[in-house]
Amino acid sequence: MADVIVVGGGIIGLTAALRLRERGADVTVWTPAGPEQTVSAVAAAVWYPTRTGYDPRLLDWARATYDQFYRHAFERVPGVLIRETRNLERDGSTGEPWWAPAARGVRYLPIDRPWTREVRFRAPLVEMTAYLPWLRQQFVAAGGRVVRRRIDRLEEALVEAPTVVNATGLAAGALCGDPDVIPARGQIVRVANPGIIVSVRDQDEPSTYIHPRSRDVVLGGTWQENSWNTTPDPATRDAILQRCIALVPELAGAPIVGEEAGLRPVRRGGPRVEAEKWPGGTVVHAYGHGGAGMTLCWGCADEVAALAL
Ligand SMILES: Cc1cc2nc3c(=O)[nH]c(=O)nc-3n(C[C@H](O)[C@H](O)[C@H](O)COP(=O)(O)OP(=O)(O)OC[C@H]3O[C@@H](n4cnc5c(N)ncnc54)[C@H](O)[C@@H]3O)c2cc1C
Repeated sequence: MADVIVVGGGIIGLTAALRLRERGADVTVWTPAGPEQTVSAVAAAVWYPTRTGYDPRLLDWARATYDQFYRHAFERVPGVLIRETRNLERDGSTGEPWWAPAARGVRYLPIDRPWTREVRFRAPLVEMTAYLPWLRQQFVAAGGRVVRRRIDRLEEALVEAPTVVNATGLAAGALCGDPDVIPARGQIVRVANPGIIVSVRDQDEPSTYIHPRSRDVVLGGTWQENSWNTTPDPATRDAILQRCIALVPELAGAPIVGEEAGLRPVRRGGPRVEAEKWPGGTVVHAYGHGGAGMTLCWGCADEVAALAL
């Protein structure tokens, strides 16, 4: 019998599983598919707390995650890069953004209309198709187990372990009866990288973003709440390309190398990370990270481990 079963093999489940294992627990991850079939694999995945309001707990998680990815970058962990980032604001803000104490290299620059300020900072960016398999491998090398298994009810895991981590992303809404969990559809286009190394984010509605990776550039985005459609829409793709090329003209003519749509696991009221007594054991919930799962994952994993052990 495992000490802990982590249900879910996305970024939230895998980081929690590794932290639990590092603390000496016997840990098994249950997931119906490999990491490439998770929402986490679709993510841009850049450190930035998209559509996440201030909460001291979130600032702590964001800081811990930032620092962990910075260490990873210097250790040359697969898929982890650091990018200079330009946030182009339109809302007239003058104070420090709530997340700024967690980030490095934050500074403020004047900019012409329609923008009101440029916030520059350095941000970790993770190529998830390289990073998630590395993470799973770290977990297995540390003695963790990964089992292909889909559950219909969390009780199935509680029969086999006294503590279960519910890291099932969007599926958590149905698995634990949480009506506040909803999808927010995001569509991205990937083009070959013509030599860009700076990320740009225009805080328009919808926001436009350009995130250069080692070989391609992730272009976005959309935020469509309550849409369950994971098929990329050609008109949306064209609109994303047009907005991105207007911001960064060097992208014009860059060949498209991929496009995806994924469903962010949003939870009204913010992520749920807490322990709950169930008949048969303890469920530690870790879901509802919306558009910021990569941004919060390591800090969250520390808290999950503290709650579970
Ligand atoms: C287009 C797009 C861009 C994004 N960009 C960013 C970004 O730049 N920065 C950022 O921080 N975040 C970003 N995100 C958000 C980020 O992807 C999510 O917050 C994060 O992936 C959530 O991780 P998760 O592990 O909770 O969920 P998931 O990755 O969905 O993992 C859930 C896991 O649970 C498993 N599961 C589900 N149901 C069951 C079941 N019944 N039984 C067993 N297992 C089950 C799944 O198979 C999966 O393994 C983006 C998302 C999208 C769609």
